[in-house]
Amino acid sequence: MALQCPKCQSDNVQKVEMAYMAGTSNLAGKVSGGSIGVGTLGVGVGAHSGTLSGTQQTELAKTLAPPPNQFASTIAGIFVGGVVLGFVLFIVAMFFFDLKPSLSLLFWSTLIITTPIVIAVVMYVKSDGAQKLKAEFTTATYKWKNSYICFKCGTKFVGQP
Ligand SMILES: [Zn+2]
Repeated sequence: MALQCPKCQSDNVQKVEMAYMAGTSNLAGKVSGGSIGVGTLGVGVGAHSGTLSGTQQTELAKTLAPPPNQFASTIAGIFVGGVVLGFVLFIVAMFFFDLKPSLSLLFWSTLIITTPIVIAVVMYVKSDGAQKLKAEFTTATYKWKNSYICFKCGTKFVGQP
């Protein structure tokens, strides 16, 4: 590999994305005398080598995980929160107005619950804050995809795409 670690000049470097996705077996032994375990849920890195200390492990774990998508998680939050709130209000209204369960009631209540959620999501997506988060996520993801990790000294660096 032509790429070298900027700190120790080792060519024992790998794309962070690859290292993150590769999982335990492929990575075992690549850190001198240690192993890295990346679980399906994300951040399980455990190195037991002489070169990587506890603090570096945490840094490594943070580095290997892809950047969080706050833009998408806020939309999911609005959606889940809206559905839960709408459902609670619907139950309360059913008892309060003594409504009988029916298909048309289901249809109209779904529409009444869904409409404000859709409006809230659209308003959020159009907001400057959301667009900024989206742009930041795109930049962070691009950087993450072009990041490399040195297995000799643990340095992470952004390579040329
Ligand atoms: Zn290095």
